[in-house]
Amino acid sequence: MIFNTNKETALKLDAADELRSLKTLFHFPQLDNKDVIYFCGNSLGLLPKNAKAAFDTELESWKELAIAGYMAGKNPWLKYQEYVKPALSKIVGAKENEVTVMNALTVNLHLMMMSFYKPTKQRFKIIMEAGAFPSDQYAVETQVKHYGFDPDEAIIEIAPRNGEKTLHTSDIIEIIEKNKNELALVLLGGINYYTGQFFDMSAITKATHDAGALAGWDLAHAAGNVRLQLHEWNVDFAVWCSYKYLNSGPGAVGGCFVHEKFANDQNTHRFGGWWGNDEKTRFKMEKGFIPKNDASGWNISTAQVFNTVALKASLEIFEKTSIEAITTKSDQLTGYLEYLLSQIKNISFDIITPSNKAERGAQLSLYFHEKGKDIHQRMIDSGIVVDYREPGVIRVAPAPLYCSFEDVNRFYEILLSF
Ligand SMILES: *Cc1c(COP(=O)(O)O)cnc(C)c1O
Repeated sequence: MIFNTNKETALKLDAADELRSLKTLFHFPQLDNKDVIYFCGNSLGLLPKNAKAAFDTELESWKELAIAGYMAGKNPWLKYQEYVKPALSKIVGAKENEVTVMNALTVNLHLMMMSFYKPTKQRFKIIMEAGAFPSDQYAVETQVKHYGFDPDEAIIEIAPRNGEKTLHTSDIIEIIEKNKNELALVLLGGINYYTGQFFDMSAITKATHDAGALAGWDLAHAAGNVRLQLHEWNVDFAVWCSYKYLNSGPGAVGGCFVHEKFANDQNTHRFGGWWGNDEKTRFKMEKGFIPKNDASGWNISTAQVFNTVALKASLEIFEKTSIEAITTKSDQLTGYLEYLLSQIKNISFDIITPSNKAERGAQLSLYFHEKGKDIHQRMIDSGIVVDYREPGVIRVAPAPLYCSFEDVNRFYEILLSF
């Protein structure tokens, strides 16, 4: 597509956008009685308007039915996790039996590592990104220590080449091959939260398996943002949160993928609890944990209904379209942002995120050599929500469900005003 910088072009692109009406399904924070432009969906997605009624439904069930709500409510709570699986499995490219929701991301990462990180004296190393999200770093460090290994020895961090900000797939694969005799696990973010780089999950997973190790992915920034094929790519396990691109609210229930080769093997080790037990015997209160033979065999506690309500509501919006249509718009919208940024001559900055659209989702991370803080402040004052990280990085995430080409053009106009 050939872009230009005119506002009219932005409006034309919006008029041609088949997903444009989805924007009306979300609540926007207000500034001077106007909707803000929201480019922070990579941190916390907006509130879907249908969530309130969905909460009211469950509050009503609780009020009217109490314990009977488990069986007789409009959405019986006993099965509450089941309701989100069809839509969620499409979003991550999995079979329904490979997906479950429970707990939150970091807890699920620990649980998955308990199943899939089985270090031995020979094979104990974990490859991850240098500068991974802190929670992932803490999880891996403490897991490694739990098994009596020294994090400095057991954790191999992959850093960009000198003077670069993102990773080369070939470098990642080389490090995997180099460590193949001692490697237990490769654990990367599908999309790096800081640079916005989307890794070649298929190639990296394959190289990991060739090295005799397992591949786990943190999809916090990838779920609902890019096209994933977890089953096809033979990913071993993955975890994600639901409050970023999945718009399910702060602390919403986390998601989890376990490949069916493990999920339907009852011998795959995991920590048990009644909600992961075979439903036929769950309430018999007998000894002997019999896991369900799908990913929900990792559930431990009773369905977290109120943490799942907004996810269920939000997924109804995803179901109005398809992840293919969403990511197609997203590529265009982010491509348009990139084009407009390429026309900016009055401020000096770099785009850290890869320019290859196969290597990114709905986020460009901009490193401003000057005035980063001022630019961020003017954006906020002008009703554009973006986030800022020292030293001068503004992450802009035009989430395709509720951001428009006009919104992106407005960001450009404000940059031009410097
Ligand atoms: C957002 C995010 C998390 C958050 O984890 P919680 O357990 O949900 O608090 C973890 N890892 C990455 C990479 C993230 O982007």
